[in-house]
Amino acid sequence: LHRRLHLESTGDEMARLGATLNAMIGRLETSFGGLRRFTADASHELKTPLTVLRANVERAMSSPQGSSEQLVALEEALQEITRMADLVDSLLTLARFDEGRFDLHRESIELEPIVRDVYETAVILGEAAGLEIAMPVLEPATVLGDAARLRQLFLNLVTNAIKYTPTGGTVELRLDAGEDTVAFTVRDTGIGIAAADLPYIFDRFWRADRARSRRVLGEHVSERGGFGLGLAISQWIAQAHGGTLTVASRLTRGSTFTVTLPLIGEQVLPVQAAPAAY
Ligand code: ADP
Repeated sequence: LHRRLHLESTGDEMARLGATLNAMIGRLETSFGGLRRFTADASHELKTPLTVLRANVERAMSSPQGSSEQLVALEEALQEITRMADLVDSLLTLARFDEGRFDLHRESIELEPIVRDVYETAVILGEAAGLEIAMPVLEPATVLGDAARLRQLFLNLVTNAIKYTPTGGTVELRLDAGEDTVAFTVRDTGIGIAAADLPYIFDRFWRADRARSRRVLGEHVSERGGFGLGLAISQWIAQAHGGTLTVASRLTRGSTFTVTLPLIGEQVLPVQAAPAAY
């Protein structure tokens, strides 16, 4: 949308067509900008009422007079509030990225302990889901980056792999250090992603057809899925570190997500954020 059309002046008709198209592109740009602004403002406005709601529900839960049905209802309300607060956080994170504000605390960090920590969390989650979690390679690597954000990125990929892999499957993590870059890979033997869906998986709010996922996953599909923002955020984190996030997948066979980051000293940071695809 940033590129304007440059048509040779081959007559009035073409010039008019060019002008009309350029005007339309301009209007589209304005409305995408407006949509981003609206999302950012709305998310921001939702933060305070959610905090108030949470405090009230928590206070009601600790009251000694409540019946057990009331307690169940309050617990459900609290779960929904948490879910909504997570959504609002994700939207605000993406809104900041759109404005080119990465808010990264850049420092020299060792990836090995972060990946080891993510692996330990994966083992606990994997046990509950009946999956084998493996980490055949864990090489030392130092990058310039934000430890909390990178941890969030790795954990997103690992929790997705666990979420989309039926019981009995395997999720494998590895950290391979190369000459100039380091690769963090998560491979699962899960439901996979259809070739036709692959171009969309990093789009905001995109989720694979639920009916199909449910068929493939059978009983194990979680009715309370995410919002389809995790991979959009993950890709931004990788790009904000001068890296990439890529995927290879086959339906019913499994998926491999790879984060590639420049090793310290090799980093070329993005100058400005690209506009988001809504
Ligand atoms: P969420 O998991 O919250 O829906 P994400 O942005 O993390 O959102 O993922 C978007 C979609 O990509 C998911 O809904 C799912 O359809 C697909 N997906 C992501 N990771 C995997 C995976 N490891 N295996 C199969 N499908 C996946």
